[in-house]
Amino acid sequence: MCGTGYGMEEKPLELYFHIPFCVKKCLYCDFLSAPTDPGTREAYLRALLSEVEGRADEYRGYRVSSVFFGGGTPSVVEAAWIGRLLDAVRERFLVSGDVEITVEVNPGTVDAKSLGVYRRAGVNRLSIGLQSALDRELAALGRIHSWGQFLSTYDAAVQGGFDNINVDLMSALPGQTLASYGETLSRVLSLHPLPAHISAYSLIVEEGTPFFERRARGELSLPDEECDRRMYEETERRLLEAGFARYEISNYARTGYECRHNCGYWRRVDYIGFGIGAASLFQNVRFHNGRDLEGYLRAPLDCREDVEVLTEREQMEEFLFLGLRMTRGVGERDFLETFGVPLAEVYGPVIRRNLADGLLCWHRVPPGGERYLALTKRGLDLSNYVMSQFLFD
Ligand code: SF4
Repeated sequence: MCGTGYGMEEKPLELYFHIPFCVKKCLYCDFLSAPTDPGTREAYLRALLSEVEGRADEYRGYRVSSVFFGGGTPSVVEAAWIGRLLDAVRERFLVSGDVEITVEVNPGTVDAKSLGVYRRAGVNRLSIGLQSALDRELAALGRIHSWGQFLSTYDAAVQGGFDNINVDLMSALPGQTLASYGETLSRVLSLHPLPAHISAYSLIVEEGTPFFERRARGELSLPDEECDRRMYEETERRLLEAGFARYEISNYARTGYECRHNCGYWRRVDYIGFGIGAASLFQNVRFHNGRDLEGYLRAPLDCREDVEVLTEREQMEEFLFLGLRMTRGVGERDFLETFGVPLAEVYGPVIRRNLADGLLCWHRVPPGGERYLALTKRGLDLSNYVMSQFLFD
């Protein structure tokens, strides 16, 4: 379950680096990422370095609790660059001694050497994009790797000393059946050692992707809703059986390996995003960098846009909307300390209604400790419906 993990005088701050490059675009992907040439990658990394160096002064009084390199595929850039960016972070920011540093990698883009560079640079968590353990499903997604390549990457990571490894899985894929999804789960759960963390999402066909067009032409055969639901149930059943705890709607971890960075998002810890399209939340102001690569390369410190100062009501909505994603839920005392008003005074009717419907429950964390409002098992299945009720009109 997401703990605070901080307990220091300075406020925690999370850093996110967006690396918008991939070897090739997957057929379902609508992330800000594309293949590119080495020169552009180098220019982008230099711009990232300038952005870190140029912005650090704005965050005095904060201590970096996590750093996350996401994308895209961060492992397509030379590993030494991850080290250079981390050096810049350590030089300019106050960094927690137990900082969590994650790099997202894709099989086929890392080897023992690059993993060694990450390790020496202080990276202590890897997130590997597997998606499926079956080569035909990977090919249908347009992924660049095979199950065999994943195994080599996983082994190299374990041999390289990484004990905190996440594996990303996807369900409801074209041509996937309940049995083939079960095979993916079986293969992942027979890894030695077991991954520390598993993220499991259903495929969503996004507009603007080749999958979207194929579906419109009737050429994409996806599992039906009932099968999708059974895969979702199977994920929970198999992972709990294997000793994982579900600590968020789509995330499972062995004890002590919950992703601090993501828990920070759901708990509304301040975070700053570097690179194109990267989002930030700082002192209740949300903003993000523009998505234009050329503009960013020209002026990395001059690309923030859509600055939105959140009203107190919007902050409360986010507090509930994001906090309820975690199985721990939202703390009654946290709410009171954050907003100076009891949770029940703001949301009494909606809480009572959902308690009566069996979608929310109160529990204490740890047992006998603070009271938390959380989704029940049924509430988790209907999470969008429950959470939408916490939005003010
Ligand atoms: S590897 Fe990830 S970010 Fe890159 S194209 Fe595929 S899904 Fe998108």
